[in-house]
Amino acid sequence: MARLVLKFGGTSVGDIDRIRNVARHVKREVDAGHDVAVVVSAMAGKTNELVGWCRNASPIHDAREYDAVVASGEQVTAGLLAITLQAMGVNARSWQGWQIPIRTDGSHGAARIQAIEADDIVRRFDEEKQVAVVAGFQGIAPDNRIATLGRGGSDTSAVAMAAAIGADRCDIYTDVDGVYTTDPRIEPKARRMSKISFEEMLEMASLGAKVLQVRSVELAMVHKVRTFVRSSFEDPDAPGMGDFENPPGTLICDEDEIVEQQVVTGIAYSRDEAQISLRRVEDRPGVAGAIFGPLADAGVNVDMIVQNISESGDATDMTFTVPSGDLGKATALLEKAKGEMRYDALQSSQGLTKVSVIGIGMRSHTGVAATAFKALAARGINIRAITTSEIKISILIDGDYTELAVRALHSVYGLDKA
Ligand code: ASP
Ligand code: MG
Repeated sequence: MARLVLKFGGTSVGDIDRIRNVARHVKREVDAGHDVAVVVSAMAGKTNELVGWCRNASPIHDAREYDAVVASGEQVTAGLLAITLQAMGVNARSWQGWQIPIRTDGSHGAARIQAIEADDIVRRFDEEKQVAVVAGFQGIAPDNRIATLGRGGSDTSAVAMAAAIGADRCDIYTDVDGVYTTDPRIEPKARRMSKISFEEMLEMASLGAKVLQVRSVELAMVHKVRTFVRSSFEDPDAPGMGDFENPPGTLICDEDEIVEQQVVTGIAYSRDEAQISLRRVEDRPGVAGAIFGPLADAGVNVDMIVQNISESGDATDMTFTVPSGDLGKATALLEKAKGEMRYDALQSSQGLTKVSVIGIGMRSHTGVAATAFKALAARGINIRAITTSEIKISILIDGDYTELAVRALHSVYGLDKA
């Protein structure tokens, strides 16, 4: 007997039929003797609708009331799943964030979980084998009001719940059957990984593989929660679905658990990047702060930063990327701040893509970057900027070459071969 958290996303609970299907997944695990806490999202599209209603009521609105509105989607699915489970003869009870309670900080709309007091839920496991159906995405803030965790936050609710009750596994059920070596829409030869380390998944999620909220991966890494990404669309009672050690899907786990380490595990990409170059910026202490301080204050997310060594010692070039949507704001701020730093010219381009090669094996292998550069060169793809970390190489290219670059990198590291 084990303890499991099962999380179901919006498409998995999109209507009553889908909720019935979810209930069968839950029942399968309960019948196997496991203690089960389920975390649910709102029905597909519901949260967008609720957000739209708030904006319609008033474009500028109180974040506490926004939370009161948007948290309601999860309340509905939690209750509906509990009803469905009960109708199937499974002892189940729904829980809203405040009832457990899941305590968060006070950042309404983007709150962070601080503690989960799950004693009552665990007691009900022990005393009556009761399934806890928990509304994801929400908790209670220090002001005693409902808080939501930011879009996609139910993943984080699930992982936090798993850590709080000491679950053996956290299964994230979604509309894809696992994590792929790259986006299968771009490269049909992409393969489902059986395992990926927390660190690699964190990079994949941050770079646009939208299976999991980034925050949930951070949390899983810190608390070492073994997390499975798997599909809710498979027949709940098909052979192997209830396999405790090897359920179908991708396991996100500690790297020690991954025996056969690949040098490169995946290729990720993010479109709609813009590049800003400041030419001949004064080269003296404080200039980087003068450039990036105002951008940070304005909430512009600066990513790749490249600074040259100056030739003469008095001026240098500084290049960095921001999301395309923030380009206008960023250039306006930099032009305004021109008094505090001197530069000759500001140049920018948009419609760029960042492609990244990810793998923990890079730590101990050389030549990984050179292989990427040669593969891109062979296809005539120009590199605009490069940044690296211990387990990642990111390359900025023109957006038109996204598909070509992703496929080239995917094949040059042998990811399309089983
Ligand atoms: N329903 C919320 C959203 O759409 C939370 C979630 O689904 O994870 O962002
Ligand atoms: Mg999601």
